[in-house]
Amino acid sequence: MATQTAVSDRNLESFRGELLLPTSPGYDAARRIWNGAIDRRPACIARCIGAADVVAAVRFAREHDLEIAVRGGGHNVAGTAVCDDGVVIDLSAMQAVSVDPAGRTAWVQGGALWGDVDHETQAHGLATTGGIVGHTGVAGLTLGGGIGFLMRKHGLVVDNLLAAEVVTAEGRIVHASADEHADLFWALRGGGGNFGVVTSFRFSLHPVGPTVIAGPVFWAADDTADVLRFYRDFAADAPDELGTVVTLGTVPPLPAIPEDLHWRPSITVACCYAGAVEDGERAVGALRRFGTPLLDLLGPSSYAAFQGGVDDTVLHGWHYYWKATSLPGLSDDAIAVMADHAHAAGSPRSYAAMFHMGGAVGRVPPEATAYAGRDVAHNIVIDAVVLPEESGEHAAAEAAWARRFLKALQPHSGGGVYVNFLDSDDDSSRVREAYGDEIYRRLAEVKAKYDPDNVFHLNKNIRPD
Ligand SMILES: Cc1cc2nc3c(=O)[nH]c(=O)nc-3n(C[C@H](O)[C@H](O)[C@H](O)COP(=O)(O)OP(=O)(O)OC[C@H]3O[C@@H](n4cnc5c(N)ncnc54)[C@H](O)[C@@H]3O)c2cc1C
Repeated sequence: MATQTAVSDRNLESFRGELLLPTSPGYDAARRIWNGAIDRRPACIARCIGAADVVAAVRFAREHDLEIAVRGGGHNVAGTAVCDDGVVIDLSAMQAVSVDPAGRTAWVQGGALWGDVDHETQAHGLATTGGIVGHTGVAGLTLGGGIGFLMRKHGLVVDNLLAAEVVTAEGRIVHASADEHADLFWALRGGGGNFGVVTSFRFSLHPVGPTVIAGPVFWAADDTADVLRFYRDFAADAPDELGTVVTLGTVPPLPAIPEDLHWRPSITVACCYAGAVEDGERAVGALRRFGTPLLDLLGPSSYAAFQGGVDDTVLHGWHYYWKATSLPGLSDDAIAVMADHAHAAGSPRSYAAMFHMGGAVGRVPPEATAYAGRDVAHNIVIDAVVLPEESGEHAAAEAAWARRFLKALQPHSGGGVYVNFLDSDDDSSRVREAYGDEIYRRLAEVKAKYDPDNVFHLNKNIRPD
């Protein structure tokens, strides 16, 4: 209550955005994030419209000793974008994307979503590596490293990050790049939201499409082991232009898919070829000819439409719980575990998604950025998903499925995990595992310099050195 008094006493009077208190209309909608299992009640949601608002909100929270949560796209499964009692610095009104087509760069505000970036950059036939779901936030995804279909050709999202505007824990606006605050710039490229609030990112862009060879091929779940064994060799020989993601789950009930296939247990390989259409057709030929697909939707597609193609399969408000690990390769034993566990989930919405790494990702020196795991072959995330009305026992059973699946995979994992795939409480001890000792040590040093009091701690926390 003291907080509410402080806020309504207009201590935030230099703030030009919208302040939402528990009594404000719109407060309940504003505190909701993508994961419907998260239900937190902040004292104040500061919906910023510029860096100056972020400065005001950081200073206000610090003066009143309030916790700070930072919301980019609101997609982190752990729900760290929102807190109980404290201040949410909400960037959802800051979604502008400004493209310099001649220089092939774009400035992107800290609350933008990947759909915003793809839409604006594709108007110029350009793109940068981004997430595979259009409604995911640019900020959180970038700060953890950023993996997506274009990464094998154009590098991780952080490999395309040229500069960032950051509001520090002191409430100062600084620019980070290779030339300014280089230590901070290094840490922002993988170290998550530990170092300040990023109000704008500047990315390099590349010619992509607008028409590319892209889309999914589906096979029946019974074919899982055969498809994965084929995929292991197919992926190992794939050119850098070819990005692939395997999904083990069910056929989604999308309009482009015949109704009799909806929810059918399946294995899917989704592809996107970042190069000429004819070359892409050749590169995916063997995959399309393998076995007897249930459905083949791989072909020429607008890149932007492909990137938004699965947006409706992971809806806001459903309840999500994740487990993840990195894989050094796809051994026969790892494939057997996947075939045994993937389709044992109780909910047709649960799935596992496996990203093929390598290519340009592995050619950046490991010390160049704070992203760990450049030598990983595949990142897998196991997603237990239930409807809100299925929370409780059903959700607990799904979470147990995800944990069993992970436990069975762990003997075949290379150690390490992608930090952006970590869930909440039972994963917080894995932050060190995600970075490894050397990167964690460097991150802790930068944290001690820019946020010695650990003001930004609602994240995959790096403790100040
Ligand atoms: C449906 C879905 C698809 C996904 N696909 C991919 C994918 O293809 N590739 C991939 O790499 N990851 C993917 N992810 C994981 C994703 O990277 C993380 O969930 C990420 O945290 C999302 O960022 P956000 O801004 O939406 O999240 P938020 O929940 O808003 O933010 C997460 C954390 O990031 C920090 N943060 C957010 N904004 C800022 C900011 N402006 N400045 C400083 N810190 C900030 C805060 O610590 C915050 O707690 C996916 C997630 C989902 C839910």
